Amino acid sequence: MNSTIEQLVRPEIRALTAYAVPDSQGLIKLDAMENPYTWPDELKRLWLTELAEVDVNRYPHPQAPALKERLRHHLGLEESSGLLLGNGSDELIQMLAMTVGGPGRTLLSVEPGFVMYRMIAHFTHTQYIGVPLQSEDFGLTPEPLLAAIEQHQPSLIFLAYPNNPTGNLFDQDAIHQVLAAASGLVVIDEAYAPFTDATFLPLLDEYPNLLVMRTLSKMGLAGLRLGMLAGAAAWLEQIDKTRLPYNINTLTQVSADFALRHQAILDQQTQTLRHARDEIFAQLSELPTIRAYPSDANFILLRLTTPGSANALHQHLRSHGILIKNLHGSHPLLEECLRITIGTEEENILLLKGIRGFKG
Ligand SMILES: *Cc1c(COP(=O)(O)O)cnc(C)c1O
Repeated sequence: MNSTIEQLVRPEIRALTAYAVPDSQGLIKLDAMENPYTWPDELKRLWLTELAEVDVNRYPHPQAPALKERLRHHLGLEESSGLLLGNGSDELIQMLAMTVGGPGRTLLSVEPGFVMYRMIAHFTHTQYIGVPLQSEDFGLTPEPLLAAIEQHQPSLIFLAYPNNPTGNLFDQDAIHQVLAAASGLVVIDEAYAPFTDATFLPLLDEYPNLLVMRTLSKMGLAGLRLGMLAGAAAWLEQIDKTRLPYNINTLTQVSADFALRHQAILDQQTQTLRHARDEIFAQLSELPTIRAYPSDANFILLRLTTPGSANALHQHLRSHGILIKNLHGSHPLLEECLRITIGTEEENILLLKGIRGFKG
């Protein structure tokens, strides 16, 4: 590395690896929890009519009030709850860390978990503590987590519910214990809400330190980049100060509002994906060399029982034109693990055929 770069770039940034997105051109893309379905042509035409009205020479509305109103309705938020929007929930994680993180402060989560919590802790000079989940089923045992909270007094705790990359919902009682024990903010990240019936939104009134984070990404609007944070207005007012002006661009404001007016289509798609997930889980569970973990999300975590097989199956599928996520080597609890995103019916058939054809 050039010595000036070495001198000037903060050591914790030099030590990081940039968030890697593999080239997926020409491949069936089952690596990133996207909704594989697009919109009917008629709906696309209606959408374009509305986009044509947008004056892109002007800045977007800084508060996006129309979209916020629609989102409040979509989430079923009480009057008393605040709502903050981010350029994806990733940006909200960053705003949270800028608000209550920093030198001498701790961000705590569980592992294996969503990698952005750790990365953003590093970006913001915040100490990161990752408490291991149970090795058997990735469940959350309260004792080690409560001990870590007691020891490190984190100002910010993230729990993804369902968790990524494991797909499971944590025990609700354990989360209640965390909420009661934590003096800092506890963010329940419900990115996979469209694929489960469980949510902590109704508990916002009960816990003043609870925030619930959602995103439109996994329900079929990943390209728009829109995340939401709901919770006590007094907290959100402070976090809002770290928001860059105009963070939600005009095309996103108009398109998300449009999509939510036609939400029935997205709901149909996510219903189809839920059914497909359960069907794929049942089929994979019958295979002798694979353990599939139950999922409440739009992906399934797999573990291969033969050492060396995860890399080989990943490569085998890749050579058959299917891209999935290889988690082997990313965390000690994810040895021989792969993650598959649920695709269209045709894609799922090809995936299962590819997995069955693998002699590892
Ligand atoms: C995908 C994902 C996100 C990121 O959502 P964006 O709104 O697309 O930034 C957040 N949290 C978890 C747990 C995720 O899996």
